[in-house]
Amino acid sequence: MDSQTPRLEIRNLRRSFEGRAVVDDVSLKILPGQVTCLLGPSGCGKSTTLRMIAGVEMQDSGTIHVDGKLICDTVFRVPPERREIGLMFQDFALFPHLSVADNVGYGLTGTKASKRERVEELLRRVDLIRFIDGYPHQLSGGEQQRVALARALAPRPRIMLMDEPFSGLDNRLRDGIRDETLSILKEEDTAVLLVTHEPDEAMRMADEIALMRDGKIVQQGAPYNVYTRPIDRASVSFFSDAN
Ligand code: ADP
Ligand code: MG
Repeated sequence: MDSQTPRLEIRNLRRSFEGRAVVDDVSLKILPGQVTCLLGPSGCGKSTTLRMIAGVEMQDSGTIHVDGKLICDTVFRVPPERREIGLMFQDFALFPHLSVADNVGYGLTGTKASKRERVEELLRRVDLIRFIDGYPHQLSGGEQQRVALARALAPRPRIMLMDEPFSGLDNRLRDGIRDETLSILKEEDTAVLLVTHEPDEAMRMADEIALMRDGKIVQQGAPYNVYTRPIDRASVSFFSDAN
């Protein structure tokens, strides 16, 4: 496989609800180690796009490939748990009755010793090894978010899908956690699709921004280009209203 094979490629994805196209011919490619932000106002179809990639929502048409291999079209479908995709959502809570170690190790298979090793490695990476035998309620919001990141990364997903994962955090914590998350994901060479309605977040985190409106990607490119050369007046007002 050459290095330019996209880790994730979606082609012409469509999904309608009650006769209305919510995701309307969306195509995207993400290379390993790259972060693409799907940026757009509430209701434009971002989460539905993510859910189709995760395999929890079925598309009406279009295809999804991972590392050049078809994982989903309208007849063939790899089930969600076999897609090697990590998920992080704003309200994707930790299991309150499980220790930090058991939360992080939840999706792991293998021997007890190998699981423990991976859990420790990840907790060291998110700088929470001291909480390994603690419980979620003993952690701050930001710390819980880092445990959630460690849990999502534990099975070494090829792709990480993140749906507004930082919006539950207060401003003081958010930038630090964004940066930290980004550096861990880059180290793991994971392809990331981050959904957000906040231009600031996309500008801070993305290698590439895909600007979405009414179910379509209206502009795509490097953050600086998308920000400084908006394609139309609706994009101008989306960026300026948000600031
Ligand atoms: P975003 O994440 O950009 O805010 P969503 O993908 O959640 O947008 O939703 C896009 C549109 O699709 C919204 O108008 C939403 O109400 C609608 N929608 C999403 N899921 C369903 C569903 N299961 N049934 C009907 N409408 C839905
Ligand atoms: Mg959403």
